[in-house]
Amino acid sequence: MIYDRILIRYGEISTKGRNRNKFIDKLRKSVRLTLSDFPNAVIESDRDRMYVLLNGEDGNEVASRLKKVFGIQSFSLAIKVEKDLEKMKAAALNLFSRLYREGQTFKITAKRSDKKFELDTNEINHEFGGHLLKNIPGLMVDVRNPDINLQIEVRSEAVYLSAETIPGAAGLPVGSSGKAMLMLSGGIDSPVAGYLSMKRGLDVEGVHFFSPPFTSDRARQKVIDLSKKLAEIGGQFTLHIVPFTEIQQSIHKQVPANYTMTTTRRLMLQITDRLREKHGGLAIITGESLGQVASQTLESMYAINEVTSTPIIRPLITMDKTDIMGIAREIETLEISNLPYEDCCTVFVPSSPKTKPKLEKVQHFESFFDFEPLIEKAVNNTETLTINPGMEQSLLEDDLF
Ligand code: ATP
Ligand code: MG
Repeated sequence: MIYDRILIRYGEISTKGRNRNKFIDKLRKSVRLTLSDFPNAVIESDRDRMYVLLNGEDGNEVASRLKKVFGIQSFSLAIKVEKDLEKMKAAALNLFSRLYREGQTFKITAKRSDKKFELDTNEINHEFGGHLLKNIPGLMVDVRNPDINLQIEVRSEAVYLSAETIPGAAGLPVGSSGKAMLMLSGGIDSPVAGYLSMKRGLDVEGVHFFSPPFTSDRARQKVIDLSKKLAEIGGQFTLHIVPFTEIQQSIHKQVPANYTMTTTRRLMLQITDRLREKHGGLAIITGESLGQVASQTLESMYAINEVTSTPIIRPLITMDKTDIMGIAREIETLEISNLPYEDCCTVFVPSSPKTKPKLEKVQHFESFFDFEPLIEKAVNNTETLTINPGMEQSLLEDDLF
């Protein structure tokens, strides 16, 4: 590996005033988590920059992890050099020679935050450009569209050499906006909703309802696999798995068939809200998209939402399915979501759910039965898993081999 470090540029964080340190701390935490299996990597940060010192770890692999971390505007593999002109020139030539392939063009882009340095940016460009031209026969300058853009950044503490600026995932560092519970099904939409929420800095915990034996272990594993993808993005992911069989059976006994879907969703929301309270969240996220299915009409949302005043975040509400699928493909959840294992809602889905349920009616139907003890029991028996990005065992792998 030519490079000894990765230089990370902050995104929107850099516009934060007094909260800046808090944001930088969260970003540091995200970077540390995604790089937890690179034990030699050391993270350093200051007000303007973060550095990952590679200490022998593979820079390209570290870079591919960093691409997914929110709060990073861009980053570059870099070399730190002492602020000594001769040493800088030697290092620049060494780096350049290792990147250069015959026939390629180049330019130098100098930046100087240390105004006391002996050369200004123009002089750096000339000095280093000349040095490379003199030492590499046939090398040509192209300032508009160079194959290699060697960046020389002179800062107060040292000089950094790099040749490529890689775009980061932008957004805000995970956790900088507080915590919310994501209602995570095995479908296409909810993982995307989770991803978009994480991108705006939310610390997201998943809540999944499952109904054994009507839903299988494979359906459960599917949600764990989706969580793993979200863990790759957030560094770690907590998944709460709620046993829902008894409640679904009671709903089907108590509520007329065309209202079971509405009541089911109301109970899911209530349980998610209890878990939210228990784990210190301030909002609930769903993958709902307006008009997509019976439960996602405005009338349905109105009847379902009535059980809580907790803010419900619906990142996909105005998005088209094809756009949602595009994001799912990008974050590599689509393939998992498309696996055919049944979800608790599909197993119990009535043949004709009300698309325009009336709130008074659903309240009336629910009034004949006390769901409270069942809600409490479900919350108490909820299983909580901590999912790490590197965790093995997955359905896709199962299917392949
Ligand atoms: P998805 O693709 O996310 O499953 P969907 O288009 O299938 O969404 P619904 O089945 O109506 O739509 O679900 C709407 C939302 O309700 C989901 O996006 C998810 O947030 C939540 N939800 C549905 N089923 C479950 C479940 N078994 N556990 C947790 N949340 C669920
Ligand atoms: Mg679904």
